[in-house]
Amino acid sequence: MAMLQVTDLKVNYGVIQAIKGVSFEVNEGEVIALIGANGAGKTTILHTVTGLIAPKSGKIEFEGKDITKMPAHKIVTLGMAHVPEGRRVFADLSVYENLLMGAFTRKDKDEIAKTLEMVYKRFPRLRERKNQVSGTLSGGEQQMLAMGRALMSHPKILLMDEPSMGLSPLFVNEIFDIIKEVSASGTTVLLVEQNAKKALSIADRAYVLETGKIVLDAAADVLMNDPSIKKAYLGE
Ligand code: ATP
Repeated sequence: MAMLQVTDLKVNYGVIQAIKGVSFEVNEGEVIALIGANGAGKTTILHTVTGLIAPKSGKIEFEGKDITKMPAHKIVTLGMAHVPEGRRVFADLSVYENLLMGAFTRKDKDEIAKTLEMVYKRFPRLRERKNQVSGTLSGGEQQMLAMGRALMSHPKILLMDEPSMGLSPLFVNEIFDIIKEVSASGTTVLLVEQNAKKALSIADRAYVLETGKIVLDAAADVLMNDPSIKKAYLGE
């Protein structure tokens, strides 16, 4: 059984069909990339899976449980965390306060403190800046904070929306190294990216999305060597 199973998902915005029957699965321990151009529907899929948008039809199952109609705050408690596009940190709160917000579904203070220590270990820069107002962090630091905040819920699966967006190549490398570490420590990852090259470099498998449909799916190394993918997505 897949950890996350999405079957024939359709999502409309008014009369516009944004997602036209998408199926994919994420198995425990995998890093799965969903790649595609601007407007292909990547964000819409993540928002639907996390319960922020209701689909027109289709089914979403997490660890065998039907979550298609479950509200977002309940889905978080099942072990799914979302790092939204553009980070969305609470700009007026400190780094530390933002991280604590990520643990809002948890009650055990000792466990929360342990996770906080794990996050600070993984992101030394967040520890250094724990009292800084988050709105004054650089883009890359805000991406780290958004990831750290998501990890504070101790998720089984981390859903990431365009972590590379707006970051310098150096920061992109740093963020992707951290995604690899998070995966190695046992968290399953679903990654949505326009930067196909980076996404494929760390993914096990990937799905290629074009105007609301999956047109191709394969092992990441196979896609990396696919001539049509090279031409359309890898700039070669
Ligand atoms: P990007 O990388 O640019 O964010 P994306 O692949 O994530 O693109 P989506 O943001 O999911 O794509 O958008 C998919 C389609 O749905 C686009 O055509 C977009 O214009 C449309 N869309 C997204 N949000 C809305 C909305 N709230 N109302 C109407 N149409 C929308």
